Amino acid sequence: MREHLATKDEESLAARLQEIGFSCTRCGECCRQGAGDDNLVMVSPAEIRRISSLCQVRPEEYVEPYPERVKFSDGTEITFGWAIRRVAGDCTFYRDGSCQVYAERPWICRTYPFMLDGEDLLTFPCPGLGSPIGKEEARALARDLRSRQAAEEEEGEKIRQAISALRPVDEGCLVVDGEGVTRV
Ligand code: SF4
Repeated sequence: MREHLATKDEESLAARLQEIGFSCTRCGECCRQGAGDDNLVMVSPAEIRRISSLCQVRPEEYVEPYPERVKFSDGTEITFGWAIRRVAGDCTFYRDGSCQVYAERPWICRTYPFMLDGEDLLTFPCPGLGSPIGKEEARALARDLRSRQAAEEEEGEKIRQAISALRPVDEGCLVVDGEGVTRV
């Protein structure tokens, strides 16, 4: 569901989240294989560094280039950023019914089933929707949503700059993220 927000301030957003209601049921639906790509989790270089350092896990163990690629007319293939690897369709961090990096989980997981897109609040299907949420929890979620939006906008702008400086390559794929270009 998409709805336009009259104001973007944190208090109004928190109040709207309270009206909608949400409490995570720990069902794991957003971590496990679904009907489409709904459990694909994009991660920025900053998030990769945080997860790796605080959870003692090397990036190559859990990160891969974002699966959708774009091919330019000169043959250069690029993709935008990184995603958490999935094993048999499930997030590689989802084991024994829980997230192995829960305290450091990426923004997407931290704010699911909500997302801010410009002035709009997006709400995705989730069994936890409609459950009561306390004022402080709603405020914390509103803060996380605003921080996620700011981080995504900053990353998007840096990616646009990196794309404008791209040089063609004959083979392989270029992963463009907010910190530059990696050939894979
Ligand atoms: S990182 Fe954790 S919360 Fe996010 S999809 Fe994977 S298991 Fe679920």
